[in-house]
Amino acid sequence: MQLGLSNTFAEQLEGLYVPWQPEGFPSPRLLQLNRPLLEELGLDDPAVEEHAAELFSGTLVPSDSVPLAQAYAGHQFGGFSPQLGDGRAVLLGEVVDRLGRRRDLQLKGSGPTPFSRGGDGKAALGPILREYLLGEAMHHLDVPTTRVLAAVSTGETVRRSRPLPGAVLTRVAASHLRVGTLQFFTARGDLEKLERLVSYTLERHHPERSDAENPAQALLEAVAESQAVLIARWMGLGFIHGVMNTDNFSLSGETIDYGPCSFMDAHDPATVHSSIDHGGRYAFDNQPKIGRWNMARMGEALLPLLDPKEAKAIAIVERTLDLFTDTHDRLWLDGMRDKLGLDGTQADDHRLVSDLLDWMTDEEKDHTSTFRRLGDEAASSDPSFEGERFASWHAAWQERLGSQDRQDVAARMNRINPVVIARNHLVEEALDAAHERDLAPFETLHDALTNPFELRPGQERFAEPAPPDFGPYQTFCGT
Ligand code: AMP
Ligand code: MG
Repeated sequence: MQLGLSNTFAEQLEGLYVPWQPEGFPSPRLLQLNRPLLEELGLDDPAVEEHAAELFSGTLVPSDSVPLAQAYAGHQFGGFSPQLGDGRAVLLGEVVDRLGRRRDLQLKGSGPTPFSRGGDGKAALGPILREYLLGEAMHHLDVPTTRVLAAVSTGETVRRSRPLPGAVLTRVAASHLRVGTLQFFTARGDLEKLERLVSYTLERHHPERSDAENPAQALLEAVAESQAVLIARWMGLGFIHGVMNTDNFSLSGETIDYGPCSFMDAHDPATVHSSIDHGGRYAFDNQPKIGRWNMARMGEALLPLLDPKEAKAIAIVERTLDLFTDTHDRLWLDGMRDKLGLDGTQADDHRLVSDLLDWMTDEEKDHTSTFRRLGDEAASSDPSFEGERFASWHAAWQERLGSQDRQDVAARMNRINPVVIARNHLVEEALDAAHERDLAPFETLHDALTNPFELRPGQERFAEPAPPDFGPYQTFCGT
């Protein structure tokens, strides 16, 4: 069976992977198939649907696939590992979708590879369904993201802190190239392969810049811009990635590696949900700084290609780091202006936004529903929350809104501020039920997440913050 796959990674990037056959499972069972995505990819074929469980678990490898495990390096929590790689993933190949975009199809949880380093190469059901839900939530919020095409139960039990049902997902990504991919060749001093990787990446993700005079610089700048866009979007939604290691920092500018990520409930810049992030390195408010840090590591990896004179190369990196920060900060503020219905720009806007966020932090206000409530009540001249501090903020906000039509402001705000997000307690509830073989709560939540700006009848509880007895919340890497 063929899927119309091409294999440009396998053909052009020798030295960056090991050919690897997924081992397959005796009785895979399809749990979820993402039909809109299947259509987008042009894979909505009865034969694909019929064999979905086998195809999307690595049990049936399409004949046009050159399956492989990718190598990469990376800084994990600040420490460098020259050799990481797909320890439980296999790239099947690439599909050119209906819009002409080349996208990777990758299995995750399909078994050990030469890069497994003692891990079992498998994945448990909960984290697989979690990645499915969060990826779809982000996609429908219009955030660049990898997505899950299918989740398949393997019939196996995987050993974690307790025995859990095993599962495999198929991930669709613009590519799986990461900062850590570049670091792999730099760490080995293989500049020729590094150069080839740079031109491959530029050609694939930024073809308009592919004949740039200085390809390494063009790539560095393009990634700085797309990551700035991405992180500004996370920051506007209260999304915490949780493990922004350089091997989880994509060169395409997509959100990738949904492990310990989460949306925060009460607004608090210091929020950390990941059980392994003891120092708060990847806390909510640190994300733009970590983005810059990761860009510095990318610059370091490209240094020998940027300019033969090291001082000049360093100057290029420094300029690009400022480009990253300036772009992020500008887009973040623009995004916050939109969230508050402000038109144009005024000097005090930053202050107005920070005053609101400080108040939300001090009063432990729910991030998502506060913005939504402001939108619902933009038309009202009465403050939507109690207290003098809020009243005075509200007055300043109303003054800033000026003569704008308030119905119009409210409508605009509600098209930007979601009412439904993948709230931690709802995600956990859906996963708990899935462990009892009941996928109904997963499907209901998934359905609500496909339309995050509108609450349909019967969905009211999806708009509510977590009950007071939920938490403190912890997420796990799912390994
Ligand atoms: P992550 O934190 O998910 O980005 O994973 C970091 C590294 O650990 C990657 O190289 C993964 O492929 C590898 N890894 C994670 N879980 C497993 C597992 N169960 N078996 C083998 N390798 C794994
Ligand atoms: Mg990873």
